[in-house]
Amino acid sequence: MKPPRPNRYRTHWAGELRADDVGQHVRVAGWVHRRRDHGGLIFIDLRDRTGLLQLVFRPEEAPEAHEAAGRLRGEDVITVSGELVRRDESAINPELPTGEVEVVAAELEQLADAETPPFQIDEDDPVGEELRLRYRYLDLRKERMRDNVMLRHAVVKEIRDFLSDEGYLEIETPIMTRSTPEGARDFLVPSRLIPGSWYALPQSPQLFKQLLMIGGYERYFQIARCFRDEDFRADRQPEFTQLDMELAFVEEEDVHDVVDRLFQRVLAVVGIEVSIPLDRITYDEAMLRYGSDRPDRRLGLEIVDVTEIFRSSEFKVFSGAPVIRALKATGEFPRSRFDALTEKAQSLGAKGLAWAVVEDDGGWRSPIAKFLSEEEIARSNDALKAGPGDAVLLVADTPQVAARVLGALRPEVGQKPEGHDIFWVTEFPAFEWDEDQQRWDAAHHPFTSPSGDLDADPGTWRSRAYDVVFDGWELGSGSIRISDPAIQQKVFDVIGIGPDEAEKRFGFLLQALRYGAPPHGGVAFGIDRIVALLARASSIRDVIAFPKAASGADPLTGAPAPVDERQLKELGVKVTAQPPAPVADQGDPR
Ligand code: ASP
Repeated sequence: MKPPRPNRYRTHWAGELRADDVGQHVRVAGWVHRRRDHGGLIFIDLRDRTGLLQLVFRPEEAPEAHEAAGRLRGEDVITVSGELVRRDESAINPELPTGEVEVVAAELEQLADAETPPFQIDEDDPVGEELRLRYRYLDLRKERMRDNVMLRHAVVKEIRDFLSDEGYLEIETPIMTRSTPEGARDFLVPSRLIPGSWYALPQSPQLFKQLLMIGGYERYFQIARCFRDEDFRADRQPEFTQLDMELAFVEEEDVHDVVDRLFQRVLAVVGIEVSIPLDRITYDEAMLRYGSDRPDRRLGLEIVDVTEIFRSSEFKVFSGAPVIRALKATGEFPRSRFDALTEKAQSLGAKGLAWAVVEDDGGWRSPIAKFLSEEEIARSNDALKAGPGDAVLLVADTPQVAARVLGALRPEVGQKPEGHDIFWVTEFPAFEWDEDQQRWDAAHHPFTSPSGDLDADPGTWRSRAYDVVFDGWELGSGSIRISDPAIQQKVFDVIGIGPDEAEKRFGFLLQALRYGAPPHGGVAFGIDRIVALLARASSIRDVIAFPKAASGADPLTGAPAPVDERQLKELGVKVTAQPPAPVADQGDPR
């Protein structure tokens, strides 16, 4: 950190003093991290953003400072001056960057008093989330949170530097806007000046970044806040941050190229080396081999299609099934483990799970062995590269169910993931069938360029969409966009947005597409998730300075909260919902 401008509070950052600085008269400021009284001497670990520094108060050299130090409590705010000295050899603390030095305090001034905090700042003991968020400013003082917040800054700075050097412009887009269909509910803001009308908070800057391409800006990015009103899902935030990008006159390869190099830089921030170009697999291949469109390939196991082997099997469950897919696993497989896996398979929609253990002679110990021929078993072993002692799990079902089930069983039976794996998944289906609504939904979003035969059944259309997957997490996704208004309307038609509705909701986009839209495409990445993975944080809440609790509420400010009757009146809004009963005050948490 750049040295501070010396003032009445400090001349140096506490955490940055080293043996080279010994002999200087320094002044440091910060919080009392810890105090220890040692036979007349008082030691204080002073904390500022840069770290900890030991201060020693000696009664005979500075009686006033010593006496004042004796009255200090944890988290009091002080400024102290004195000489920086080398510690006695025996007192050197190799764990601490400032561990070779200490300040012999000459003068102490207490700048603020601190009440006893509701949890320890100087220890990383588990603290309830509600309490942490309610006293977030204290939680933020902890070393782990400070490291996370600093890492987040470093990642975002790397992104900004890299993309600026590549010629990208950072351009802001509105927060108060119209609904963008990313598949979630909108947060709405009532307009006072245009009564009865509402702004929507953006689910993403999707349409604006496309308009920026039509506007001629060629290369855009934004560290963009997005808002999606979704039902509770673990580790989701109603507002979150994306790195949003868009490029004009490009195809998939161009987007992949810049993102590959960007990720190489960002991962290097935490010392992860990746070679580029990043690997790419198609959606179909991912579903076939891993049963997931964001597989953790580090688990090692791959799904094998064995349909052909059992095509004319005597075992009707197999010969009659649309597909049979299998997974080989190693390890201990007592009966109870198969039972648990079967239960899981059934909970995911499979009719059942067939299993076998390969015996020394290659035969199968399995409830279904008696229905299978030796040849079928031998060919399966070959296809799976299964040998004595290995377990085999088989699902006979539709391709979707087989993929879903075996994809979910991989983590249960695969090896412990080590190292890192980052790659692209490409060529997604264009639409997903929504059983409840009985209609097609855009698999990515409706502005994604479809590919394939657009006169054929929409279920066969592919899309020019792509995802980046890191260690089994989807970090982000994007696509080449539709730049032809006729195709845009064709996609709207498939998802049930007729020309009139399209005109009403997206008329501005359709019109813009008629004024010379370049081919364009882009991508967006979840910054919170990326930083959480790099920080090895267990929740994205640990890398957001002021997150909402899992319930969507903010225990610090009390948001969301009812507003004054007068405000509602001005807005012309009438509340019909009953506010929930107030949560009993937890009282003084100490
Ligand atoms: N707008 C998309 C999203 O938020 C990303 C993209 O297509 O660029 O997921």
